[in-house]
Amino acid sequence: SQSSDIPNQSNMLVCVRVRPLMSHDRTQKEVTRVLDSRVVIILDPNKVHEKDDILRANRSREKRYAFDRVFQPGDDNNKVYQNTTRYLLAGVLEGYNATVFAYGNTGAGKTHTMIGSVEEPGIMVLTLQDLFKLSEKHVHKHGTKFRVTVSFIEVYNENIRDLLSDVDEFLDLREDPIKGPVISGVTEVKANSSSEIMDLLHHGNRNRTQQATAANAVSSRSHAVLQVVVENREKAEGTSAKIKIGKLSLVDLAGSERAAATKNKGIRLTEGANINRSLLALGNCINALGEKKNRGQFVPYRDSKLTRMLKDSLGGNCRTVMIANISSAVSNFEETLNTLKYANRAKNI
Ligand code: ADP
Ligand code: MG
Repeated sequence: SQSSDIPNQSNMLVCVRVRPLMSHDRTQKEVTRVLDSRVVIILDPNKVHEKDDILRANRSREKRYAFDRVFQPGDDNNKVYQNTTRYLLAGVLEGYNATVFAYGNTGAGKTHTMIGSVEEPGIMVLTLQDLFKLSEKHVHKHGTKFRVTVSFIEVYNENIRDLLSDVDEFLDLREDPIKGPVISGVTEVKANSSSEIMDLLHHGNRNRTQQATAANAVSSRSHAVLQVVVENREKAEGTSAKIKIGKLSLVDLAGSERAAATKNKGIRLTEGANINRSLLALGNCINALGEKKNRGQFVPYRDSKLTRMLKDSLGGNCRTVMIANISSAVSNFEETLNTLKYANRAKNI
């Protein structure tokens, strides 16, 4: 088993991040409150006050959820990174695979968390920054050499598109008996500096399929996956060099809001259904992995493109971080509650 300082005993770290109120929801009431670094409270605005016993009424309106970590609106991307993804790096350098998901409804802060901005780089950038630093340190200390390559793809409507290529085509996902799931012809970039990576990510993110829906002006219906492959080549003393290959998948999931809520029709509904397929499949895999501990249950990786491509990065020896992004605005109550329930189920792994 791998050594790491992940702050719980399981292979899954489940966190919640509450984004600050934005100017467009500033006039609205808040329905969540962060109690401490592990507990978030949600108040149901639909349950009416019992005038005679406000204390009791409030108690019945509120639900508490505990997680490995709850981030407040004031916490920045670096704080989120330091307390989540950073724990995975040691394992990846030792050749283990790991995955980080940003989950939540459109507008809850997934892309901010994963990609961020030049002013506040997200987890994808901070991860690569740290990998470059570690790589330099290791060369000095152990004489090992790392090769870091990245690919950036989206799963949209159950098709895989290369976000780093200007050729717009669907890529095939195949199963290699040794390498595991492989995306044929995907662009693999050798990563050298983190500023370069930021440009790549922003360029790639602009290539994502985005459609306006009633739920949000720009609603992302695609899953974006940055795969970072770290090749750790130990200096050969005899004849054979030892090579460890670890893969870190950083996933900015599509909005978790239900198709019904976005009032979509026709083709957009089909897309919604397909997005639900990948999200549903992910949820089913996560549930099965939770059950597996007790019963050796079958994990339905094959049910969607997303779970197929992450087959070797979920479960087993792999570490997973789930960052459930929520908004505290009353208008997002239903989705926020759904996200908390989803994240709560993931805790069982
Ligand atoms: P999503 O990708 O989940 O649809 P975004 O990351 O695009 O949501 O966030 C929606 C808006 O809220 C963006 O303008 C983003 O910059 C802002 N935002 C989200 N989270 C934060 C945060 N923690 N701090 C500041 N702004 C945020
Ligand atoms: Mg987004």
